[in-house]
Amino acid sequence: MALRQQLAYLAHNSPYYQRQFREQHINVADIRTVADLARLPFTTKDDLQRHNWDFLCVPRNQVAEYSSTSGTLGEPVIIGLTKNDLARLYRNEYLSFGCADGGADDVYQLMLTLDRQFMAGIAYYGGLLELGAGIIRVGPGNLAAQLANIQQLQPTALVAVPSFISNLLAFAQEQNINLNDSSIRKIVCIGESIRQEDFQLNALAQKITGQWPNVQLYSTYASTEKQTAFTECGQGQGGHHQPELIVFEIVNEGGQLLKAGETGELVITNLGVEGMPLLRYKTGDLCAYYDAPCACGRTTRRLGPIVGRKQQLIKYKGTTLYPQTIFNVLNSFAEIAAYVVEASRSALGTDELTVTVAFRSEDWVEAPARLRQALQAGLRVLPTLLVAPLPAVLARQQADGKRKPSVFIDRR
Ligand SMILES: [Zn+2]
Repeated sequence: MALRQQLAYLAHNSPYYQRQFREQHINVADIRTVADLARLPFTTKDDLQRHNWDFLCVPRNQVAEYSSTSGTLGEPVIIGLTKNDLARLYRNEYLSFGCADGGADDVYQLMLTLDRQFMAGIAYYGGLLELGAGIIRVGPGNLAAQLANIQQLQPTALVAVPSFISNLLAFAQEQNINLNDSSIRKIVCIGESIRQEDFQLNALAQKITGQWPNVQLYSTYASTEKQTAFTECGQGQGGHHQPELIVFEIVNEGGQLLKAGETGELVITNLGVEGMPLLRYKTGDLCAYYDAPCACGRTTRRLGPIVGRKQQLIKYKGTTLYPQTIFNVLNSFAEIAAYVVEASRSALGTDELTVTVAFRSEDWVEAPARLRQALQAGLRVLPTLLVAPLPAVLARQQADGKRKPSVFIDRR
C-alpha cells in the first residue's frame, strides 16, 4: 500500500519520473507489489547527479534542509528534505537506536560530523531526542576532547566510525587510561563494516573488542539517498529492515532479482518521502539479505554486511579486489596504530594502490617485512607500502576535507 502511494506520488509530482514513465509507457497503477517493481527502470547515481533538481517533488520553498552526499565517489548530490521528511528521518533513527538496545536512560557521545550538510548527523541527533536519551555532540576527530568528555560526562554509548574507535583506544593507552573502566557499554558503528559475511566480527571489530571487552558493537548502515538506516539488534545478525520506510531489492549484474543469501547490488525505493524520493535507486553497495526470523523476535528481513562497493573495485596488477580485503589484512596486525589505503590511476590508465601505515612502536623493525608477506598472501599482489608517523596518517584520513575520516581514499 505504501509502495503504491509512493508510486502515485512520483507520477503526480516528480518531473524526473514523470518523464521516465511517459517515455517508457509505464502506468504506475499496474505496479502493485514489490515483485512488480522489476518492470520499472533503475535510477543510478549518474541520473541523480545529472538531473538532481528534476527529482524534487515539492516547490522549492518547501525544502527545509539541503543535505548532500559525502562525494566520496564523484560530485556530491543534493537531497532536499521537507519538514515531514525530517520528522520521518528522526523517527527512523529513533527506531534504529531502539533496535540497537538504546533507551531513554542512555547518554550517547556523537563522534561524527553534525554540520556540513551531513544527513546522518542530524538524523542521529533527532532520533536520540525522540528516544529521550542524553546527547554529547563532540564532533569528529579530536581524541583528547573525546576522552575528556567520556571521563567527565560518563556517556553509556558512542556513535562512531570503528577505525576511529581503534584510534581512540590507542590514544587512551598512551594516556594510561583503561576504557574498560569507563561508563561506555555500547558502540553504534557507522560508515565501516564490523562483520565478515558469516556475521563474525571482522579483524577491526575484533581488535576493538579484544582491547575493550566491556562494550557491545552494533552496526548501522545508511546513506543520504536512503534516508533510512538498517541497524543491528543485539543478536548482530544483520541490519533490520524497516519495511514501512524503504523497499529494497538485491539484484545481479544483469539486474535480475536475487534470493535470500545471494550477494548482489542493493537497490532501494524510499517510502513516505516527499522531497526527493528515489525509485529503484542502485546504491552500488554489494550485500545479501536474510529472511529467517531473528532471535530478537523481529520478523523483518536483515541486510548482511556490505562486502564491497561496486565502484570501489580495484583492478591492480591483474587482480581484482575490494578495499575491505586490504583492511582485513591490516586490521589483523595489532602493531598497526592507523592506516590509509589510496587508489589512484596511472598515466597508463591502470589502478595504483598505496598503503600507508603507522606502527605503534617505531622500533618494530621486522614489521614492514611481515606486513609485506601478509599483504602478498591475502591479496595475491603487493601494494606500494609506506610507513609514516601516526599524526600524519590520521591527517591523511581526513584529507580532501571530508566529513568522515576515511581509511580508503579513491583518486581514480
Ligand atoms: Zn534481531
